[in-house]
Amino acid sequence: MGAASKILIVGGGIGGLTAALALTRQGFDVAVYEQSPELREVGAGVQMGPNGTRVLHALGLKDALERIQFAPARREIRLWNTGETWNWFELGAKAVERHGTPHLMLHRRDLHEVLADAVRREKPDAIHLGWRCTAVTQNSDAAEVRFANGEAVPGTVVIGADGIHSQVRASLFGADAPEFTGCIAWRGLVPFERLPASVSRTSGTNWLGPYGHVLHYPVRRGELLNFVGMVERDDWQVESWTVAGTTAELANDFRGWHADVQAIIANLDVPYKWALMVRPPMPRWSEGRVTLLGDACHPTLPFLGQGAVMALEDGYVLAACLKKYAGDHATAFSRYEQARQERTAAVVRKAAENRTSVFKHKLADRDTLAKSVAQEWQQERVRERMEWLYTYDATAVEV
Ligand SMILES: Cc1cc2nc3c(=O)[nH]c(=O)nc-3n(C[C@H](O)[C@H](O)[C@H](O)COP(=O)(O)OP(=O)(O)OC[C@H]3O[C@@H](n4cnc5c(N)ncnc54)[C@H](O)[C@@H]3O)c2cc1C
Repeated sequence: MGAASKILIVGGGIGGLTAALALTRQGFDVAVYEQSPELREVGAGVQMGPNGTRVLHALGLKDALERIQFAPARREIRLWNTGETWNWFELGAKAVERHGTPHLMLHRRDLHEVLADAVRREKPDAIHLGWRCTAVTQNSDAAEVRFANGEAVPGTVVIGADGIHSQVRASLFGADAPEFTGCIAWRGLVPFERLPASVSRTSGTNWLGPYGHVLHYPVRRGELLNFVGMVERDDWQVESWTVAGTTAELANDFRGWHADVQAIIANLDVPYKWALMVRPPMPRWSEGRVTLLGDACHPTLPFLGQGAVMALEDGYVLAACLKKYAGDHATAFSRYEQARQERTAAVVRKAAENRTSVFKHKLADRDTLAKSVAQEWQQERVRERMEWLYTYDATAVEV
């Protein structure tokens, strides 16, 4: 496989566009096929730890990010009913000092636009919109992606970056069997001008409470607040970015919580709801000329804020493997899996463990939470727990 080969990417999300950018930079001819008729991510935030911004900076996106990013000064913890606040750990300049690249909070749509613009600068017609993949087939000479519009496109290799309900994964390995966790996640955005001054404009804030957990942080240069509310509930099991609930239903899930949480909920533009599911790890991600990345092969719960970052890391490492083993996709995919499977499995495991720890009902008690913050959530302890995650350098991985 050399520069003359054609790489087809199914899915123009954060992972697919990162892979497209990394591959075009390596000299490959790439085409991205996205099912949505317009390139428009959902209205929600995404946290990017230093391991994610390391990849974005390496792809030349530092300046573009600076026009849209929010770099929080710190994270803080608040108690669900009284709003009592504890400093959790420092970010801002401290994160850059420790890891070389910043910890950012972004609007997904802004990040998506930055990636799409960069891909189009490399190849103006690389991204095809309104193309929904229905199947992938292959033989020893080529792979072929079939689409709902009746077209079939041949390529040298295919990358399935089509997310949690991946059609490419289903074509390779059959249907998956997700298991409901008993939690749902509410998401939404609200302009800061609608919120009381007591809602932090400089930090990421985690609220701990009974049967629930709230996280909010500024995005888009600090103009908007991104809200995520996780709650234990078993009457909703649809896993989707686009299903909206009602403000009344969301308010009911967090009744009795502090006035700041109520004010955010009452002012959200649209409250979206997502049922959190888990899936067993996949032993293989590739078959012949086809491989997977991001949520298509290792979907993760949002309790570590690393799912999109893993998709970025995958895209960068996969491009490096295809470059190094040009002409030998079998070795490229095998090295890619070796480089990425253990790390992504650790992230999936850790995120599931975090779910258990934030839903400990006793943390809703003030004295228990204060003790827990003092013992387990101090800067040094957090640093020890997160170091393995943030120091990983996808741009220097040995492939
Ligand atoms: C509540 C919540 C909060 C989160 N917060 C964070 C966070 O702070 N930080 C973080 O790193 N991660 C976070 N995540 C996880 C993160 O959103 C995902 O891991 C990430 O979006 C995965 O990226 P992806 O590119 O693999 O898939 P996706 O973002 O799902 O993109 C897949 C793309 O493929 C397209 N597609 C799907 N099917 C087809 C088809 N058949 N044909 C063509 N195109 C198709 C879709 O339209 C989409 O554009 C969060 C997740 C949730 C649920």
